[in-house]
Amino acid sequence: MQLEFFGAAGEVTGSCHILTVGGRRLLLDCGMIQGGAASDERNRAAFPFDAAQVDAVILSHAHIDHCGRLPLLRNRGFRGPVYANPACRDLVRILLADGATMAERDAERENRRRKKSGDARRVEPLYTLEEAQAVLQLFRTVRYGHAMEVLPGVELVFRDAGHILGSASVWLRLNEGALERRLVFSGDVGQFDSPILCDPETGPGADLVLMESTYGDRRHRDRDATREEFGSILRAARDDGGNVLIPSFAVGRSQEILYELATHFEAWGLADWQIFLDSPMAIEATEVYWKHANLFDEEAQQWHARSRSLPPLPNLKLSRTADESMAINKIPHGAIVIAGSGMCTGGRIVHHLKHNLGRPECDVVFSGFQAQGTTGRAIVDGREYVRILGEPIKVAARIHTLGGFSAHGDQQDLLRWYEAIPGRPPVWLVHGESQAADGLRDALRAKGVRADVAVSGLTLDLGAAA
Ligand SMILES: [Zn+2]
Repeated sequence: MQLEFFGAAGEVTGSCHILTVGGRRLLLDCGMIQGGAASDERNRAAFPFDAAQVDAVILSHAHIDHCGRLPLLRNRGFRGPVYANPACRDLVRILLADGATMAERDAERENRRRKKSGDARRVEPLYTLEEAQAVLQLFRTVRYGHAMEVLPGVELVFRDAGHILGSASVWLRLNEGALERRLVFSGDVGQFDSPILCDPETGPGADLVLMESTYGDRRHRDRDATREEFGSILRAARDDGGNVLIPSFAVGRSQEILYELATHFEAWGLADWQIFLDSPMAIEATEVYWKHANLFDEEAQQWHARSRSLPPLPNLKLSRTADESMAINKIPHGAIVIAGSGMCTGGRIVHHLKHNLGRPECDVVFSGFQAQGTTGRAIVDGREYVRILGEPIKVAARIHTLGGFSAHGDQQDLLRWYEAIPGRPPVWLVHGESQAADGLRDALRAKGVRADVAVSGLTLDLGAAA
């Protein structure tokens, strides 16, 4: 019985761990490596195991850094089941389709470029839309709290991780001969008291915990203060006489923004605005959220009950087609536009920036992480000019950054999640850059917990480890 750390050990993306029990192989996640110059190459590289010899995959949640290499796994011979929460499966469908569309477009662009420069070699997309759809046929859904024997000697229970809809921590009971071990894989753990989602849940005890550490060394800004700030930005924006742009990730953040707007509709004076959700992907994700409203926390369930079809915002307009999106560009003032991509690297938000960023009466509200090298980061960093669709645009609009919206728990949330597990089991930390993982390790050790940071390629003998 052994566990091998493969991806997301010493870094944040590419989550994948390999469990061997009774000669069978199980993957915990099969995520895409994101960011970094060599990421495309690394994603295309061979797995360090034979994909055809993998018996099953257990998926913690739908983010692409946890599920993005599933189509490649299938292409290379995997035909076993993929276990996931039902809402997770529905979001994977959206996210993999989006990933495939982008990969196909990137490959096309690269092939055009090569042709022009006389290079006859062609690149293939990492995976196609068809391949993304094929892997969904392998999914088997498991609700939270239900025990299921996924392989002989492997019993699985998913518990709500409170990170995005359908996200789970993975609780396993492993049997091999006389040996029994209880292993917990945290997946990505959300914040306690975040809107829409339930709090991260824990369970009845474990011999070993594999835990994420994305924000293991940090405290998030207070959520109430963030909400207060969001409200005052919108109230002030009304007097500015322009538009408000909110670059947003389609899954999770867009729904959270809609929730905040709906629940503060009167207090923030939103009746005077037209609110646009200008993203087919975010609209689809919102529909998935709505379909699985049984997973919402109590307040959000009441919110859902007020409108059966979509978020209860009387002036919300769903903009699906390109024509509908372009029509928004003709509105001089009074529009709040939620659109992707979240870091302004592409998508419809780029067109809205082109029309509004140079106008001092407009506001741009960032609510998510802006990676180095992205247009979003350049704007947030206070650059005077940014290049949008090939044109330099002067940044004249007011720029705001909301610090407290995060899908990930901070150090306090992670400790709170861990400490609810009885028996203080030993911890291996994954899914964090070294400073964050070290920070959480030190905080755990200060509480007398045996904690270590995992490195890629490390193999633990579970018989001996616990
Ligand atoms: Zn995640």
